[in-house]
Amino acid sequence: MTPNDLSAELERRRAAGLYRRRRVQDGPQQPQGRTDGRPMLNFGSNDYLGLANHPQVITALQQGAARWGVGSGSAHLVNGHSAAHQALEEELAEFTGQPRALLFSTGYMANLGVISALAGRGDTVFEDRLNHASLLDAAVLSRATLRRYPHADAAELAHLLDADRRHPGRDAGTQAMDGNPPTRDAAQNDGAPHPNAPCLIATDGVFSMDGDLAPLPALALIARQTGAWLLVDDAHGLGVLGREGRGSLDHFGLLGAPADGLILMGTLGKAFGTFGAFVAGSDALIETLIQRARPYIYTTATPPALAEATRVSLALARREEWRREHLKTLIGRFRAGAAQLGLPLADSPTPIQPLTAGSSEHALAWSRTLESAGILVTAIRPPTVPAGTARLRITLSAAHTQADVELLLSALATLPRVQDQ
Ligand SMILES: *Cc1c(COP(=O)(O)O)cnc(C)c1O
Repeated sequence: MTPNDLSAELERRRAAGLYRRRRVQDGPQQPQGRTDGRPMLNFGSNDYLGLANHPQVITALQQGAARWGVGSGSAHLVNGHSAAHQALEEELAEFTGQPRALLFSTGYMANLGVISALAGRGDTVFEDRLNHASLLDAAVLSRATLRRYPHADAAELAHLLDADRRHPGRDAGTQAMDGNPPTRDAAQNDGAPHPNAPCLIATDGVFSMDGDLAPLPALALIARQTGAWLLVDDAHGLGVLGREGRGSLDHFGLLGAPADGLILMGTLGKAFGTFGAFVAGSDALIETLIQRARPYIYTTATPPALAEATRVSLALARREEWRREHLKTLIGRFRAGAAQLGLPLADSPTPIQPLTAGSSEHALAWSRTLESAGILVTAIRPPTVPAGTARLRITLSAAHTQADVELLLSALATLPRVQDQ
């Protein structure tokens, strides 16, 4: 794209209903907000437990800044790794039942760091088609061959792995990322023993735009049988599912004993209400990431005060079971109400409750209708979701009340149906 191309390209996006623009929030993340200067009831954040604006978390950040200052001053491997970071890592390891945990600046960087540290040219990375963009980008960055299996289809994954074993180097059944062909030269490897495959299976634990769960027991079994890593990105399961919010792996009873091939990636900016991410797993895994994960090595450590705030929000998330209980009640009420209205509900047991509109124009029209009723729900469009599946991504939070959900339902009742439009 040359400098001359930009305006035309932006215009094309606008015409296709794919233009993205930011709204300006005037206040903390909470259900009752002000957006672009207008009062608005929010159903769009990932603050599932309502901790982003919790007084104890705010105090921990303030006191942390008084104790540690603001900036960490350097990368973890230089001299930016503080006792606050260290304590949070130990608490996250204990929380997830894993030997070690390692903090990353963001979830995006954690995924880039893990996959590019463990997979490289000649390896194959298997991913669910609906994985978060950061997992897909990570495979591309690693230069491994990326194979995407149909959504939540463990049988098809097993089939792909099997075909890969019997015909190493062949790309049958593969789905390269758009515009990113598999990097391995198929002809070169044909018939030769597969150098290093399969290397890694990566999946969202709870799918970020659909709210459904990955078939983790089946994926864990396949990973064990093939000797591959299983990387579970639990950005939307941690805090919400499992005992004390231990996430989707715990929901399936898979967090009991630390397993050598298991990698858990968790984010701190969603249910925990702060910022950052971590990876939990074996001692050898964490030591390897410290040596090799470039998005870990070559970036400034997050502020130590932030680690102090996260330590408090982690304790609240674990202890205050009522947040998960209340959330469950809201999810149940929303689903019952939406079903009564005949809305196109997805099969999601989590706070992510998408309503499929189909075209980007319909999703945008729905979002605008709700906005004029004072309700903020974001329209999610391609390429974040597959073409033809644009949707409203409704998210619920423990900070919502039952009355908030009733307001949402009455606004949804006024939406024109897709088939009527
Ligand atoms: C939000 C998200 C990320 C990225 O985490 P950040 O900390 O926001 O960079 C990664 N994976 C999934 C599934 C996510 O939803």
